[in-house]
Amino acid sequence: MKKALITGITGQDGYYLTKLLLEKGYEIHGIVRRNSQNSLGNLEHLPKEELEQINIHWGDITDNLFIDETIKKIQPDEIYHLAAQSFVGFSFKNPRFTYDVNIGGTLNVANAVKEYSPSSKLYFAATSELYGKVQEIPQKETTPFYPRSPYGVSKLAGFWTIKNYRESYNLFMSNGILFNHESPMRGPEFVTRKITMAVAKIYNGLQDYVELGNLSAKRDWGYAGDYVYGMWKILHHDKPDDFVLATNETHTVREFVENAFKVVGIDIEWEGEGINEIGKDANTGKVLVKVNPEFFRPAEVDILIGDYSKAKKELGWEPKVKFEELVKMMVEKDLERIKLK
Ligand code: NDP
Ligand code: GDP
Repeated sequence: MKKALITGITGQDGYYLTKLLLEKGYEIHGIVRRNSQNSLGNLEHLPKEELEQINIHWGDITDNLFIDETIKKIQPDEIYHLAAQSFVGFSFKNPRFTYDVNIGGTLNVANAVKEYSPSSKLYFAATSELYGKVQEIPQKETTPFYPRSPYGVSKLAGFWTIKNYRESYNLFMSNGILFNHESPMRGPEFVTRKITMAVAKIYNGLQDYVELGNLSAKRDWGYAGDYVYGMWKILHHDKPDDFVLATNETHTVREFVENAFKVVGIDIEWEGEGINEIGKDANTGKVLVKVNPEFFRPAEVDILIGDYSKAKKELGWEPKVKFEELVKMMVEKDLERIKLK
Protein backbone atom coordinates (compact mmCIF):
# COMPACT_ATOMS: atom_id res chain seq x y z
CA MET A 1 0.00 0.00 0.00
CA LYS A 2 1.43 3.40 -1.01
CA LYS A 3 1.60 6.07 1.67
CA ALA A 4 0.73 9.69 0.94
CA LEU A 5 1.09 12.68 3.26
CA ILE A 6 -1.09 15.69 2.46
CA THR A 7 -0.46 19.06 4.09
CA GLY A 8 -3.48 21.36 3.78
CA ILE A 9 -5.75 18.32 3.69
CA THR A 10 -8.71 20.27 5.13
CA GLY A 11 -8.76 22.74 2.20
CA GLN A 12 -10.47 22.54 -1.18
CA ASP A 13 -7.74 20.61 -2.96
CA GLY A 14 -7.07 18.44 0.11
CA TYR A 15 -10.66 17.23 -0.09
CA TYR A 16 -10.51 16.23 -3.78
CA LEU A 17 -7.01 14.78 -3.52
CA THR A 18 -8.03 12.66 -0.53
CA LYS A 19 -10.97 11.26 -2.50
CA LEU A 20 -8.72 10.48 -5.48
CA LEU A 21 -6.01 8.77 -3.42
CA LEU A 22 -8.56 6.75 -1.42
CA GLU A 23 -9.97 5.48 -4.72
CA LYS A 24 -6.43 4.51 -5.71
CA GLY A 25 -5.96 2.55 -2.50
CA TYR A 26 -3.43 4.81 -0.72
CA GLU A 27 -2.81 4.94 3.02
CA ILE A 28 -3.48 8.62 3.69
CA HIS A 29 -1.88 10.85 6.30
CA GLY A 30 -2.97 14.45 6.69
CA ILE A 31 -1.59 17.40 8.63
CA VAL A 32 -4.26 19.49 10.33
CA ARG A 33 -3.52 22.58 12.45
CA ARG A 34 -5.24 22.83 15.79
CA ASN A 35 -8.38 24.95 16.04
CA SER A 36 -10.69 25.46 18.98
CA GLN A 37 -13.47 23.36 17.43
CA ASN A 38 -11.28 20.39 16.48
CA SER A 39 -12.79 20.95 13.02
CA LEU A 40 -11.58 18.93 10.06
CA GLY A 41 -12.72 21.53 7.52
CA ASN A 42 -13.78 20.15 4.15
CA LEU A 43 -12.93 16.60 5.26
CA GLU A 44 -16.15 16.71 7.28
CA HIS A 45 -18.01 16.43 3.96
CA LEU A 46 -16.51 12.97 3.39
CA PRO A 47 -18.60 9.89 4.18
CA LYS A 48 -17.81 8.53 7.68
CA GLU A 49 -16.17 5.36 6.35
CA GLU A 50 -13.78 7.42 4.20
CA LEU A 51 -12.98 9.88 6.99
CA GLU A 52 -12.11 7.01 9.34
CA GLN A 53 -9.42 5.81 6.94
CA ILE A 54 -7.41 9.05 7.22
CA ASN A 55 -4.57 9.31 9.73
CA ILE A 56 -4.67 12.83 11.12
CA HIS A 57 -1.47 14.43 12.48
CA TRP A 58 -2.31 17.56 14.46
CA GLY A 59 0.26 20.31 13.98
CA ASP A 60 1.27 23.48 12.19
CA ILE A 61 3.31 23.67 9.01
CA THR A 62 5.47 26.43 10.53
CA ASP A 63 6.67 24.09 13.32
CA ASN A 64 9.83 22.52 11.89
CA LEU A 65 10.23 20.10 14.81
CA PHE A 66 6.75 18.72 14.23
CA ILE A 67 7.26 18.51 10.45
CA ASP A 68 10.62 16.72 10.90
CA GLU A 69 9.09 14.19 13.32
CA THR A 70 6.02 13.56 11.18
CA ILE A 71 7.88 12.97 7.93
CA LYS A 72 10.54 10.88 9.68
CA LYS A 73 7.86 8.67 11.27
CA ILE A 74 5.63 8.18 8.21
CA GLN A 75 8.28 7.84 5.47
CA PRO A 76 5.65 8.71 2.83
CA ASP A 77 6.04 7.58 -0.78
CA GLU A 78 4.43 10.84 -1.87
CA ILE A 79 3.99 14.21 -0.16
CA TYR A 80 1.52 16.78 -1.45
CA HIS A 81 2.43 20.10 0.17
CA LEU A 82 -0.76 22.14 -0.19
CA ALA A 83 -0.85 23.96 3.17
CA ALA A 84 -0.75 27.72 2.70
CA GLN A 85 -2.30 31.05 3.50
CA SER A 86 -3.90 30.88 0.07
CA PHE A 87 -5.96 34.07 -0.20
CA VAL A 88 -4.32 36.90 -2.17
CA GLY A 89 -6.54 39.62 -0.67
CA PHE A 90 -5.66 38.62 2.90
CA SER A 91 -1.95 38.48 2.06
CA PHE A 92 -1.89 42.28 1.62
CA LYS A 93 -3.28 42.66 5.15
CA ASN A 94 -1.11 39.96 6.78
CA PRO A 95 2.08 39.81 4.68
CA ARG A 96 4.40 38.59 7.47
CA PHE A 97 2.03 35.77 8.42
CA THR A 98 1.68 34.83 4.72
CA TYR A 99 5.50 34.68 4.36
CA ASP A 100 5.89 32.65 7.56
CA VAL A 101 3.38 30.00 6.50
CA ASN A 102 4.07 29.89 2.78
CA ILE A 103 7.84 30.31 2.74
CA GLY A 104 8.78 28.91 6.16
CA GLY A 105 6.32 26.02 5.85
CA THR A 106 7.66 25.03 2.43
CA LEU A 107 11.26 25.16 3.61
CA ASN A 108 10.30 22.97 6.60
CA VAL A 109 8.77 20.32 4.33
CA ALA A 110 11.57 20.36 1.75
CA ASN A 111 14.26 20.19 4.42
CA ALA A 112 12.54 17.39 6.35
CA VAL A 113 12.42 15.35 3.12
CA LYS A 114 16.13 15.95 2.52
CA GLU A 115 17.11 15.05 6.09
CA TYR A 116 14.72 12.25 7.00
CA SER A 117 12.92 10.81 3.97
CA PRO A 118 14.91 11.49 0.78
CA SER A 119 13.06 8.85 -1.22
CA SER A 120 9.71 10.67 -0.76
CA LYS A 121 8.44 12.42 -3.89
CA LEU A 122 7.30 15.96 -3.12
CA TYR A 123 4.65 18.01 -4.92
CA PHE A 124 4.54 21.76 -4.20
CA ALA A 125 1.44 23.86 -4.86
CA ALA A 126 2.90 26.76 -6.83
CA THR A 127 0.50 29.09 -8.63
CA SER A 128 -0.27 31.25 -11.67
CA GLU A 129 0.03 34.21 -9.26
CA LEU A 130 3.80 33.88 -9.92
CA TYR A 131 3.14 35.44 -13.35
CA GLY A 132 1.36 38.49 -11.91
CA LYS A 133 1.99 41.47 -14.16
CA VAL A 134 1.58 40.43 -17.77
CA GLN A 135 4.82 39.40 -19.46
CA GLU A 136 3.39 37.01 -22.05
CA ILE A 137 -0.02 35.61 -23.08
CA PRO A 138 -0.77 32.75 -22.63
CA GLN A 139 1.55 31.99 -19.71
CA LYS A 140 3.65 28.85 -19.76
CA GLU A 141 6.58 27.30 -17.85
CA THR A 142 9.12 29.58 -19.57
CA THR A 143 7.20 32.85 -19.02
CA PRO A 144 9.06 35.23 -16.68
CA PHE A 145 7.60 35.66 -13.21
CA TYR A 146 6.44 39.04 -11.84
CA PRO A 147 4.34 38.47 -8.71
CA ARG A 148 1.97 41.23 -7.60
CA SER A 149 1.08 40.36 -4.00
CA PRO A 150 2.71 39.07 -0.80
CA TYR A 151 1.02 35.78 -1.62
CA GLY A 152 2.62 35.70 -5.07
CA VAL A 153 6.03 36.64 -3.68
CA SER A 154 5.79 33.95 -0.98
CA LYS A 155 4.87 31.28 -3.53
CA LEU A 156 7.76 32.40 -5.75
CA ALA A 157 10.13 31.74 -2.81
CA GLY A 158 8.45 28.34 -2.40
CA PHE A 159 8.85 27.57 -6.11
CA TRP A 160 12.59 28.35 -6.03
CA THR A 161 13.08 26.48 -2.75
CA ILE A 162 11.69 23.34 -4.38
CA LYS A 163 13.75 23.80 -7.54
CA ASN A 164 16.89 24.52 -5.53
CA TYR A 165 16.48 21.45 -3.30
CA ARG A 166 15.80 19.32 -6.38
CA GLU A 167 18.95 20.50 -8.14
CA SER A 168 21.21 20.63 -5.08
CA TYR A 169 20.37 17.29 -3.49
CA ASN A 170 18.99 15.24 -6.38
CA LEU A 171 15.54 14.86 -4.82
CA PHE A 172 12.19 14.16 -6.55
CA MET A 173 10.54 17.55 -5.98
CA SER A 174 8.12 19.11 -8.49
CA ASN A 175 6.22 22.37 -8.79
CA GLY A 176 2.66 22.47 -10.09
CA ILE A 177 2.02 25.97 -11.47
CA LEU A 178 -1.72 25.72 -11.16
CA PHE A 179 -4.09 28.33 -12.49
CA ASN A 180 -7.23 29.15 -10.48
CA HIS A 181 -9.34 26.09 -9.81
CA GLU A 182 -12.68 26.12 -8.14
CA SER A 183 -15.43 23.83 -6.89
CA PRO A 184 -18.30 23.73 -4.40
CA MET A 185 -15.57 23.25 -1.74
CA ARG A 186 -13.85 26.55 -2.58
CA GLY A 187 -13.37 28.96 0.34
CA PRO A 188 -16.23 31.51 0.60
CA GLU A 189 -14.05 34.62 0.19
CA PHE A 190 -12.75 33.68 -3.28
CA VAL A 191 -14.68 35.53 -5.96
CA THR A 192 -16.25 32.46 -7.63
CA ARG A 193 -17.70 30.99 -4.46
CA LYS A 194 -18.67 34.43 -3.16
CA ILE A 195 -20.72 34.88 -6.34
CA THR A 196 -22.32 31.42 -6.39
CA MET A 197 -23.28 31.65 -2.70
CA ALA A 198 -24.76 35.10 -3.29
CA VAL A 199 -26.74 33.92 -6.34
CA ALA A 200 -28.21 31.04 -4.32
CA LYS A 201 -29.16 33.40 -1.48
CA ILE A 202 -30.55 36.15 -3.75
CA TYR A 203 -32.65 33.56 -5.62
CA ASN A 204 -34.06 32.35 -2.30
CA GLY A 205 -34.78 35.87 -1.04
CA LEU A 206 -32.10 35.66 1.66
CA GLN A 207 -29.88 38.46 0.31
CA ASP A 208 -30.59 41.58 -1.81
CA TYR A 209 -27.37 42.07 -3.80
CA VAL A 210 -23.67 41.15 -3.89
CA GLU A 211 -20.77 43.62 -3.57
CA LEU A 212 -17.65 42.88 -5.62
CA GLY A 213 -14.35 44.55 -6.55
CA ASN A 214 -12.66 44.56 -9.95
CA LEU A 215 -15.19 43.08 -12.40
CA SER A 216 -12.76 43.29 -15.35
CA ALA A 217 -10.09 40.96 -13.91
CA LYS A 218 -9.65 37.90 -16.12
CA ARG A 219 -8.93 34.45 -14.80
CA ASP A 220 -8.35 30.98 -16.22
CA TRP A 221 -10.81 29.03 -14.04
CA GLY A 222 -10.75 25.22 -14.00
CA TYR A 223 -12.26 22.52 -11.79
CA ALA A 224 -10.35 21.39 -8.68
CA GLY A 225 -11.24 17.72 -9.29
CA ASP A 226 -9.37 17.80 -12.63
CA TYR A 227 -6.36 19.59 -11.09
CA VAL A 228 -5.72 17.17 -8.21
CA TYR A 229 -5.50 14.40 -10.80
CA GLY A 230 -2.83 16.55 -12.49
CA MET A 231 -0.92 16.76 -9.18
CA TRP A 232 -0.88 12.98 -8.97
CA LYS A 233 0.27 12.74 -12.61
CA ILE A 234 3.12 15.19 -11.88
CA LEU A 235 4.45 12.87 -9.15
CA HIS A 236 4.11 9.86 -11.47
CA HIS A 237 6.19 11.38 -14.25
CA ASP A 238 9.55 9.68 -14.88
CA LYS A 239 11.41 12.75 -13.57
CA PRO A 240 10.74 15.71 -11.27
CA ASP A 241 9.83 18.87 -13.17
CA ASP A 242 7.59 21.95 -13.20
CA PHE A 243 4.24 21.99 -14.99
CA VAL A 244 1.48 24.47 -15.78
CA LEU A 245 -2.06 23.12 -15.28
CA ALA A 246 -4.71 25.38 -16.79
CA THR A 247 -7.67 25.41 -19.23
CA ASN A 248 -6.26 27.88 -21.80
CA GLU A 249 -9.50 29.90 -21.54
CA THR A 250 -9.97 33.19 -19.76
CA HIS A 251 -13.11 34.95 -18.49
CA THR A 252 -13.81 38.18 -16.64
CA VAL A 253 -15.37 38.28 -13.19
CA ARG A 254 -18.29 39.98 -14.96
CA GLU A 255 -18.78 36.91 -17.18
CA PHE A 256 -18.69 34.66 -14.12
CA VAL A 257 -21.47 36.78 -12.57
CA GLU A 258 -23.57 36.61 -15.76
CA ASN A 259 -23.20 32.84 -16.05
CA ALA A 260 -23.98 32.26 -12.37
CA PHE A 261 -27.23 34.28 -12.49
CA LYS A 262 -28.18 32.53 -15.74
CA VAL A 263 -28.28 29.22 -13.82
CA VAL A 264 -31.27 30.57 -11.85
CA GLY A 265 -32.88 32.11 -14.93
CA ILE A 266 -31.79 35.74 -14.34
CA ASP A 267 -30.20 37.84 -17.12
CA ILE A 268 -27.86 40.56 -15.89
CA GLU A 269 -27.71 43.96 -17.58
CA TRP A 270 -24.73 46.24 -16.77
CA GLU A 271 -24.87 49.99 -16.29
CA GLY A 272 -22.25 52.61 -15.38
CA GLU A 273 -18.49 52.30 -15.14
CA GLY A 274 -15.70 51.68 -12.62
CA ILE A 275 -16.87 51.92 -9.02
CA ASN A 276 -20.27 53.13 -10.25
CA GLU A 277 -20.96 50.01 -12.31
CA ILE A 278 -24.05 48.03 -11.32
CA GLY A 279 -25.57 44.77 -12.50
CA LYS A 280 -29.39 44.71 -12.78
CA ASP A 281 -31.94 41.97 -13.33
CA ALA A 282 -32.79 42.67 -16.99
CA ASN A 283 -36.42 41.76 -16.33
CA THR A 284 -37.24 43.56 -13.10
CA GLY A 285 -34.54 46.27 -13.03
CA LYS A 286 -33.59 45.26 -9.47
CA VAL A 287 -29.92 45.96 -8.63
CA LEU A 288 -28.19 42.64 -7.87
CA VAL A 289 -24.49 43.56 -8.21
CA LYS A 290 -22.68 46.62 -6.83
CA VAL A 291 -19.00 47.55 -6.84
CA ASN A 292 -17.32 48.21 -3.49
CA PRO A 293 -13.76 49.61 -3.61
CA GLU A 294 -13.01 47.68 -0.41
CA PHE A 295 -12.60 44.58 -2.58
CA PHE A 296 -10.01 46.09 -4.92
CA ARG A 297 -6.39 45.06 -4.37
CA PRO A 298 -3.42 47.43 -3.98
CA ALA A 299 -1.91 45.72 -7.04
CA GLU A 300 -3.96 43.58 -9.41
CA VAL A 301 -3.21 40.66 -11.70
CA ASP A 302 -5.18 41.72 -14.77
CA ILE A 303 -5.21 38.58 -16.87
CA LEU A 304 -4.28 34.95 -16.41
CA ILE A 305 -4.53 32.37 -19.16
CA GLY A 306 -2.41 29.24 -19.08
CA ASP A 307 -0.86 27.15 -21.83
CA TYR A 308 -0.90 23.58 -20.52
CA SER A 309 0.62 21.94 -23.61
CA LYS A 310 3.66 20.63 -21.69
CA ALA A 311 1.40 18.79 -19.21
CA LYS A 312 -0.67 17.47 -22.10
CA LYS A 313 2.35 16.22 -24.03
CA GLU A 314 4.42 14.82 -21.16
CA LEU A 315 1.76 13.75 -18.65
CA GLY A 316 -1.24 13.14 -20.91
CA TRP A 317 -3.19 15.56 -18.65
CA GLU A 318 -6.09 17.69 -19.86
CA PRO A 319 -8.87 19.53 -18.02
CA LYS A 320 -12.32 18.00 -18.51
CA VAL A 321 -14.80 20.44 -16.93
CA LYS A 322 -15.50 23.59 -18.96
CA PHE A 323 -16.25 27.05 -17.59
CA GLU A 324 -20.08 26.99 -17.97
CA GLU A 325 -20.27 23.53 -16.42
CA LEU A 326 -18.11 24.63 -13.47
CA VAL A 327 -20.28 27.69 -12.76
CA LYS A 328 -23.44 25.57 -12.96
CA MET A 329 -22.00 22.92 -10.62
CA MET A 330 -21.11 25.56 -8.02
CA VAL A 331 -24.43 27.43 -8.14
CA GLU A 332 -26.45 24.20 -8.02
CA LYS A 333 -24.52 22.95 -4.98
CA ASP A 334 -25.04 26.25 -3.15
CA LEU A 335 -28.78 26.12 -3.96
CA GLU A 336 -28.90 22.57 -2.60
CA ARG A 337 -27.08 23.62 0.59
CA ILE A 338 -29.68 26.34 1.24
CA LYS A 339 -32.49 23.79 0.79
CA LEU A 340 -30.85 21.43 3.29
CA LYS A 341 -30.63 24.13 5.99
P1 NDP B 1 -7.30 26.27 0.82
O1 NDP B 1 -7.15 27.65 1.35
O2 NDP B 1 -8.68 25.72 0.62
O3 NDP B 1 -6.51 25.25 1.78
C1 NDP B 1 -5.33 25.62 2.43
C2 NDP B 1 -4.99 24.54 3.42
O4 NDP B 1 -3.79 24.89 4.12
C3 NDP B 1 -6.07 24.33 4.51
O5 NDP B 1 -6.14 22.96 4.81
C4 NDP B 1 -5.48 25.09 5.69
O6 NDP B 1 -5.93 24.65 6.95
C5 NDP B 1 -4.00 24.73 5.51
N1 NDP B 1 -3.12 25.61 6.28
C6 NDP B 1 -3.03 26.95 6.21
N2 NDP B 1 -2.11 27.40 7.08
C7 NDP B 1 -1.62 26.32 7.72
C8 NDP B 1 -0.65 26.14 8.75
N3 NDP B 1 0.00 27.17 9.28
N4 NDP B 1 -0.39 24.88 9.17
C9 NDP B 1 -1.05 23.82 8.65
N5 NDP B 1 -1.98 23.94 7.68
C10 NDP B 1 -2.26 25.16 7.22
O7 NDP B 1 -6.48 26.20 -0.55
P2 NDP B 1 -6.71 25.28 -1.84
O8 NDP B 1 -7.08 23.91 -1.42
O9 NDP B 1 -7.58 26.01 -2.81
O10 NDP B 1 -5.26 25.28 -2.49
C11 NDP B 1 -4.28 24.32 -2.13
C12 NDP B 1 -2.91 24.88 -2.39
O11 NDP B 1 -2.78 25.22 -3.76
C13 NDP B 1 -2.57 26.15 -1.62
O12 NDP B 1 -1.20 26.12 -1.31
C14 NDP B 1 -2.85 27.26 -2.61
O13 NDP B 1 -2.09 28.41 -2.33
C15 NDP B 1 -2.41 26.58 -3.90
N6 NDP B 1 -3.08 27.06 -5.11
C16 NDP B 1 -4.42 27.09 -5.18
C17 NDP B 1 -5.04 27.49 -6.33
C18 NDP B 1 -6.52 27.51 -6.45
O14 NDP B 1 -7.02 28.11 -7.40
N7 NDP B 1 -7.26 26.86 -5.58
C19 NDP B 1 -4.26 27.92 -7.53
C20 NDP B 1 -2.84 27.73 -7.35
C21 NDP B 1 -2.28 27.34 -6.18
P3 NDP B 1 -7.27 25.28 7.64
O15 NDP B 1 -8.42 24.45 7.10
O16 NDP B 1 -7.01 25.06 9.09
O17 NDP B 1 -7.36 26.72 7.22
P1 GDP C 1 -7.05 35.04 -6.95
O1 GDP C 1 -6.95 35.00 -8.43
O2 GDP C 1 -6.26 33.95 -6.28
O3 GDP C 1 -6.79 36.35 -6.36
O4 GDP C 1 -8.57 34.61 -6.62
P2 GDP C 1 -9.84 35.45 -6.15
O5 GDP C 1 -11.03 34.59 -6.41
O6 GDP C 1 -9.67 35.97 -4.77
O7 GDP C 1 -9.86 36.71 -7.12
C1 GDP C 1 -9.95 36.56 -8.52
C2 GDP C 1 -10.12 37.95 -9.16
O8 GDP C 1 -11.40 38.46 -8.82
C3 GDP C 1 -9.10 38.99 -8.66
O9 GDP C 1 -8.65 39.71 -9.77
C4 GDP C 1 -9.92 39.90 -7.77
O10 GDP C 1 -9.46 41.25 -7.73
C5 GDP C 1 -11.28 39.82 -8.46
N1 GDP C 1 -12.41 40.19 -7.59
C6 GDP C 1 -13.37 41.08 -7.89
N2 GDP C 1 -14.23 41.19 -6.87
C7 GDP C 1 -13.80 40.36 -5.89
C8 GDP C 1 -14.30 40.04 -4.60
O11 GDP C 1 -15.30 40.57 -4.13
N3 GDP C 1 -13.61 39.09 -3.89
C9 GDP C 1 -12.48 38.49 -4.40
N4 GDP C 1 -11.89 37.55 -3.67
N5 GDP C 1 -11.99 38.79 -5.61
C10 GDP C 1 -12.64 39.71 -6.36
